[in-house]
Amino acid sequence: MILVKSPREIEVMRRAGAVVGTFFEEVRPLILPGVSTWDLELFADRFIARNGVRSAFKGVREGDILSIDFGIVREGFYGDAAMTFPVGAVDDVSSRLLSATERSLAAGIREVRPGNRLGDVSAAVQETVEAEGFSVVRDFVGHGIGRSLHEDPQIPNFGKRGVGPKLTPGMTLAIEPMVNAGGWPVEVLADGWTVVTRDRSRSAHFEHTVAVTEDGHRILSLP
Ligand code: MG
Repeated sequence: MILVKSPREIEVMRRAGAVVGTFFEEVRPLILPGVSTWDLELFADRFIARNGVRSAFKGVREGDILSIDFGIVREGFYGDAAMTFPVGAVDDVSSRLLSATERSLAAGIREVRPGNRLGDVSAAVQETVEAEGFSVVRDFVGHGIGRSLHEDPQIPNFGKRGVGPKLTPGMTLAIEPMVNAGGWPVEVLADGWTVVTRDRSRSAHFEHTVAVTEDGHRILSLP
C-alpha cells in the first residue's frame, strides 16, 4: 500500500530533506584526493550530532569516484539522498558515467506528476542511461519513503511507460538510479556489505527524495 502524506507531513519531510541536502553541500568540498572514507564518516557523525537528527544508515564507498548515500530521521520522517563525486581528476568514462546518472535522475523526476505512472519514471531513467551505452542495476531499486525508510512502492530504474501505480499528490518517493559503466549484474562481497559490479566496471549512484504535488513534484532533499 502506498502511503499518501498530508501537506503538513510533506513539510516535515521537507525539513528532513533539507538536512540531507545541506549535508551534501557541506561534504562536497571535503572530497579531495587523499581524503579517507574514515574522515568522511567522522564528518557525517559530527554533522548528524550538530543537526540534532538521527542517522538512517551510512554508506560510503571508496574509489576514484565516490558514492555517498546519506539518510536521516527528523521529527519522525526520513530524508534520503545520494550523490557520486569525482575525487580529483577522473577519466572520460567516469565523468560521462557521473553525468549520465545525474541526468537519468533528473529525467525520472521530470516524469513525477499526478496522472503519470511509476513506469514512466522508471522508463525515463533507463532510456537516459542506455542512450549513453551504460546499464542500470537491477538488484537495487528506489522506494517510497516517509515514517519508514523503505515504503511501497518499489521504484525500479528500468521499466515500461504507462504501467505501474498511478502517481497521486502526497506520494513521497526516493528515486535512486544506480548505473554501471559495464553490464548491470552486481555482487555482494564476503563482508556482506560491499557491493561491486560483476565485471568490476565503475558504478555511480544519485538519489533524491521527491513528493508528488498537485501540479507536478517537489524535490524534498535540497538544502
Ligand atoms: Mg534510498
